Amino acid sequence: MIAKEELLKKIVGHAKEYGFVFPSSEIYDGLSATYDYGPYGAELKNSLKAYWWEAMVKMHENIVGLDAAIFMHPTTWKASGHVDAFNDPLIDNKDSKRRYRADVLIEEHQEKYRQKIAKELAKGRKRFGDSFDESQFLATNPNVIRNREKVEQIDARYKAAMDANDLAAVKELIIDLGIADPETGSKNWTDVRQFNLMFQTELGSVAGDASTIYLRPETAQGIFVNYLNVQKSARMKLPFGIAQIGKAFRNEIIARQFIFRMREFEQMEMQYFVKPGTELDHYAAWKEARMAWHKALGLGEGSYRFHDHVKLAHYANAACDIEFDFPMGFKELEGIHSRTDFDLAAHERYSGKKLQYYDPEAGESYVPYVVETSIGLDRLFLAVLSAAYQEEHLEDGSSRTVLRLPHALAPVKVAVLPLLKKDGLPEMARKVIDMLKYDHNCQYDEKDSIGKRYRRQDAIGTPYCITIDHESLEDQSVTLRERDSMKQERVGIDALSSIVADKVSMKTLLKQLP
Ligand code: ATP
Repeated sequence: MIAKEELLKKIVGHAKEYGFVFPSSEIYDGLSATYDYGPYGAELKNSLKAYWWEAMVKMHENIVGLDAAIFMHPTTWKASGHVDAFNDPLIDNKDSKRRYRADVLIEEHQEKYRQKIAKELAKGRKRFGDSFDESQFLATNPNVIRNREKVEQIDARYKAAMDANDLAAVKELIIDLGIADPETGSKNWTDVRQFNLMFQTELGSVAGDASTIYLRPETAQGIFVNYLNVQKSARMKLPFGIAQIGKAFRNEIIARQFIFRMREFEQMEMQYFVKPGTELDHYAAWKEARMAWHKALGLGEGSYRFHDHVKLAHYANAACDIEFDFPMGFKELEGIHSRTDFDLAAHERYSGKKLQYYDPEAGESYVPYVVETSIGLDRLFLAVLSAAYQEEHLEDGSSRTVLRLPHALAPVKVAVLPLLKKDGLPEMARKVIDMLKYDHNCQYDEKDSIGKRYRRQDAIGTPYCITIDHESLEDQSVTLRERDSMKQERVGIDALSSIVADKVSMKTLLKQLP
């Protein structure tokens, strides 16, 4: 087992060495919180997008796609509340000169108590074995109760301070909790200030003619302003959803932790339009559906948890995050929000255009309510990579680094390896690739020993290696090696397509969804 602190460093190094993620503009020493995806990273990202898009759009008759522009009319962001309220509370440490998000410092402090609760639970589970009753334990164990109360008290104080826009009270909370600069231990803090996260630029080249526009901080507004266009053109009836994948930009105050928090990132959002009054049922259903979607990837049942929001955003009447056990601990991977009619009603007000739905059954028109699911593609990428990365010691005394990626997501599905660079083996390998390449990403590799070639494929997560040897020329059979078990079996060339497809196709993954 690799220690968690060490794991992130290893993943960053591995991602660079094997062409998954590079620091942006590295020859100029990089640009902070911006990353480029390399050859295998781009493939993995595309597979993640396909898994999300197909699960949303292909698997649901009532969800359709959209690809809206990044630039939007500036009034969009006035109506959405982003111009006035898309702020993060920031605080500086006077000694270290380091800048932090006040809410993140507080959350990380709470996480210590949550960890204590998790430890108690593990102890209880060990002690009571099969007769362990988790809910009773959580309700009665004094250590659990004490730590939970601490978490709740902090939540309540933070919510009260933010609701009253009382930044002095947020600072007071940080002081009272004894929160120190995580890097240096100093408790010498400045006041808390608000900072708007939207990037601005100017539209138009004529001086004086320019107007301020924003790089979108979320993809959702492109969906809201197109709600009627989509509903009418695709003849959608409530409830229906609009799904979109696209870039979003936030001038994050601190942007560490690799691709977890970037200033340019990609979101996959789905807005589900529903009849007012039914939104909490849909919210509950989407919570379950999204969790099932994550778990189908097989990264570990215990790697996910829900975090229900106490401090609801101004637009929401229910909200939660799906958190993932990243190398830095449990953190938000996806948000699920019941956004009421906040956005559509605001766009109606600001644009003067009706954004209503005529409900033929009820015989009335109304502004639909919205339940949204919003996931960061880059965070999903990091979740998958960190769960997949393993260093294994093998029975023969050697070791290997392997990415146990879900098969359907692997950048290369099949590597075809001629044992020697001669005797017609390369030609036969090419023929096998020609047969498989229409369905799967294949890679040809003839350099180095077969062992070294296997290791290279393990390091990028290739599920299958096919080795062509002299026997293959005679009996049309090959050695098929599976990544995780490293088992090798002899199979006929004509059986390859179906064996490989069975494991690596997106269909196999999608079929696991409820
Ligand atoms: P956080 O609290 O971590 O800043 P958020 O609550 O502001 O996130 P949302 O506005 O709900 O995030 O955005 C939806 C999703 O977009 C998040 O769950 C996350 O996966 C992703 N996301 C948000 N900000 C970033 C970022 N700076 N870099 C990468 N992904 C991000």
